[in-house]
Parts: sequence; C-alpha cells; structure tokens
Amino acid sequence: MKIAKNNVVVMHYAVSDSEGTLIDSSYEDEPMAIIQGTGYLIPGLDDAILGYKMGDKFEVAVSCDQAYGERFDDYVQTVPREALAGVEDLGLGTQLRATTDDGEQTVIVIDVQDDEITVDGNHPLAGLDLSFDVEIIEVREATAEELEHGHVHVEGGCGHNH
Ligand SMILES: [Zn+2]
Repeated sequence: MKIAKNNVVVMHYAVSDSEGTLIDSSYEDEPMAIIQGTGYLIPGLDDAILGYKMGDKFEVAVSCDQAYGERFDDYVQTVPREALAGVEDLGLGTQLRATTDDGEQTVIVIDVQDDEITVDGNHPLAGLDLSFDVEIIEVREATAEELEHGHVHVEGGCGHNH
C-alpha cells in the first residue's frame, strides 16, 4: 500500500545539512515508527513521504522553513551567572528550561564566562536546510486506538502511561 494520511509508517532516515554533514541517522538503530499527518515529523518530510510504499528509498530536500524554522538572533541571550546559580553542572551544551516572553522554552548554553552565561533558545537545527535519506520499512493502517493516542503502538501494546 502507498502511504496516505494517518498511516503508520516505519522508516529509516539519515539527515544531513546542506554541506552533506551527517546530523543524525536511524540506520544503526531501530527504525522510527510514526503516524503520518500527526505532526511528529517536520512538515517538509511528513508531506514528502506520501505516496511511497514499503521498500522505497529516496532523498528529500527540506528547506529550513519546512524543517525547524528560521534562526532568530534575539533568541540568544546573555545573563548574569548568578541568575543560574541553582543549576548544577552548568557547561557548554547544558539544556535549561527558561521562562521567556513566549512562555516556557528550552535553551542551550553556548558560552560560559566567569560572570556571564550565554544561552540560545533556537532549535539546534533552526536555520538549516536539511537533506534526508529515507527507506520505508513498513506501511500499515493505524488502529483506532493509535489514532486516538496520536502515536504508534508496538506489538499491540501502548507502552506509554496515559
Ligand atoms: Zn498509546
């Protein structure tokens, strides 16, 4: 069957940036299982898999606006170190929850000085045009329960605490 809206799709993927640098891959691991059209995948990839079937391998180029969005320089903020005094193991790459004008947001520490910390609220892949290598492993109808939960159930079980 060909992938249509709300189908369960099991797929391998490898994602690279526009210079061909590998960012992430499922090929060495378990494939990803998703329900098409539920917003789990970035929009550019979710739309691109429609119509493919089991065994298909293809490439998808996704511009940043269909991936993780534009990068905003004003999401980068420098704060006094004492503002983060309660945070343990503060270092480059530490992820923090911060309250901003747009609500709760995850920020990543990108610079640590003696008295100042710089954090970035952009998604790590924001502003990047991405290229996906995709292999479709399985396509099937979603069960009513899966659609209700909005995620794939493995071997008939939910595997989540609802
Ligand atoms: Zn469930």
